[in-house]
Amino acid sequence: MIKICKTIDEVRKEVKQYRKEGLSVGLVPTMGYLHEGHKSLIDKAVAENDIIIVSDFVNPTQFGPNEDLADYPRDLEKDAMLCDNAKVDILFAPKPEEMYASNGCTFVTVDGLTNELCGKSRPIHFRGVATVVSKLFNIVTPDRAYFGEKDAQQLAVIRRMVKDLNFNIEIIGCPIVREEDGLAKSSRNKYLNEEERLEAIVLHRALVLGKEAVAGGEADASKVKELIVDMINSESLSKIDYVEIVDAETIQPVSIIEGPILCALAVSFGNTRLIDNFSYDNEEK
Ligand code: AMP
Repeated sequence: MIKICKTIDEVRKEVKQYRKEGLSVGLVPTMGYLHEGHKSLIDKAVAENDIIIVSDFVNPTQFGPNEDLADYPRDLEKDAMLCDNAKVDILFAPKPEEMYASNGCTFVTVDGLTNELCGKSRPIHFRGVATVVSKLFNIVTPDRAYFGEKDAQQLAVIRRMVKDLNFNIEIIGCPIVREEDGLAKSSRNKYLNEEERLEAIVLHRALVLGKEAVAGGEADASKVKELIVDMINSESLSKIDYVEIVDAETIQPVSIIEGPILCALAVSFGNTRLIDNFSYDNEEK
């Protein structure tokens, strides 16, 4: 039976006991409103650890002043049911006052990797993410932590942070889970109206087109981007924030596609901003 913990002390007490029993702990950080994408991370964690802790926390410090913090969908009861069915041991669902009780003035910033892609239009976002993930790592002290490739820049930032700050935690990346028509699953898909939802399929179609071009030997990043941009612009409601091809590790733009790359995009439909991406590594052909 799943246990819901609302305080840091409760989680620490449980983890202390698990450690005494020599059990391994896997952490899946989320902002809740769980779907099949989150479930895939949980399933992998269940397969690889004795104890699974899912955090369910809409982290205020990663939202800008004009973003959707207040509207972000929440359903703790449903999340608890999904976690219970998936064999999660602890759902950690603190209130912001619990996580930020000390009114902290200490933040974790990961330079360089956060200047491009989402970092450009969401300047404080990754500082909030790196800070809250550090706090979760210190509270839960997991052996492994699971993150989706859907948020590829976030995954790169966390990997770098773990390396730079010597967290003794293995970071596991998990593939993007999609709807049947290709749209990447996201808690924010709920915001889309019928017309926007239909048009949003273009993101995956455009990324497939781009990936095929790269796999076919196109090494000019601007040409690949153009293919993707043109296809997305053919949908009347789409508004591109960025389509960018970057080095998979440094998240710096590349003009020639040689080593491992990440092709990432952010596009709005109405008020809903969606992200998606593909990775490509010539070596793995
Ligand atoms: P979120 O609740 O949106 O912050 O996501 C929590 C974790 O689930 C992050 O590591 C995301 O990358 C991951 N995630 C969200 N959607 C998907 C998806 N469609 N496929 C795989 N992982 C996902």
